[in-house]
Amino acid sequence: MKKRIGIDVGGTNVKIALVDENGKIIYSNSVPTYAKMGYEYTVNNIKQAIRDLMKETNTDSKAIDAIGFDFPGQVDYQTGVVKLAPNIPGWVNVPIAQMIEEEFHIPTKIDNDVRCAALGELKFGAGRGCKNFICMTVGTGIGSGLVIDGKIVRGAANAAGELGHIKLQMQGGPLCGCGDTGCLEAFASGPAIVAMAYDYIKGGKAAKFSEMAGDGEITPYIVAKAAEEGDPVAKRIFEIVGEYIGIGLSSVINLLNPEKVIIGGGVAESGELLLDPIRRTVQERAMSVAGASVEIVQAELGNSAGVIGASMLVEGE
Ligand code: ADP
Repeated sequence: MKKRIGIDVGGTNVKIALVDENGKIIYSNSVPTYAKMGYEYTVNNIKQAIRDLMKETNTDSKAIDAIGFDFPGQVDYQTGVVKLAPNIPGWVNVPIAQMIEEEFHIPTKIDNDVRCAALGELKFGAGRGCKNFICMTVGTGIGSGLVIDGKIVRGAANAAGELGHIKLQMQGGPLCGCGDTGCLEAFASGPAIVAMAYDYIKGGKAAKFSEMAGDGEITPYIVAKAAEEGDPVAKRIFEIVGEYIGIGLSSVINLLNPEKVIIGGGVAESGELLLDPIRRTVQERAMSVAGASVEIVQAELGNSAGVIGASMLVEGE
């Protein structure tokens, strides 16, 4: 049976998994990233984690077809070089695919996190059988992986899919992490939910989420829980966020006419609370034919989308 390794590199931890040909995780483990020690240190830890995986699963390197990496940042899929990963300092122009291939003699590819999630959903999740879909993640930021005619779209410089930076306001608006203002991400990501929650409190609106947070920080998770318990302010926040996302998505739906929009990321764990206003807005604002033919669903692979998708990068599409 064909086996592959998927490796999801994050700012805090590196997740590693052995994945079978049905996308099932046979073994998984994680090691700390320790980015501050320099990328060579992390690469050595990753190599050791690969050796440990082989040892613990009794898998010879000849039985492993491919290794794939997912990074939160700019990567060059063709050359296997990590260009820049803002949350993993020191990873600038690191030829990780070549370093791993030289060590293990197993074909290795890399891609960014959302594209790996899209590939995972395409092969084994909510995108199975679809030719055209958008896989969107809503967490600290908003990103997307696009699948057109059954293929991942990377663009001219591996920069396609930045759905979070669709502009929703011509001038002004909230400042975005990208340096511009008025981006979808600045209106509707996890931090935007938190900012809105504090604004309501400042505006004198008593809300359940401030009580639930106690002395701690308000998080999107807490706002979602308050909404589930019926708090009208928390419900309103999710309606507003869903509406912003729905408006941003309407433009992309009009452009691409996808069969599905698959929504993942931590904030999408809130389920219908977020999906419902998104669906309503798309029905109201997208062009009628494209709007009527798109299905908006929750991602299926959750936290494992990255490792599963990464494992499929070599000859995966
Ligand atoms: P990152 O973008 O940093 O990788 P995630 O996609 O994991 O992060 O999203 C993390 C965010 O998801 C946190 O802000 C957390 O509060 C939020 N979150 C987690 N579970 C839920 C939930 N059930 N409802 C709403 N938000 C949630």
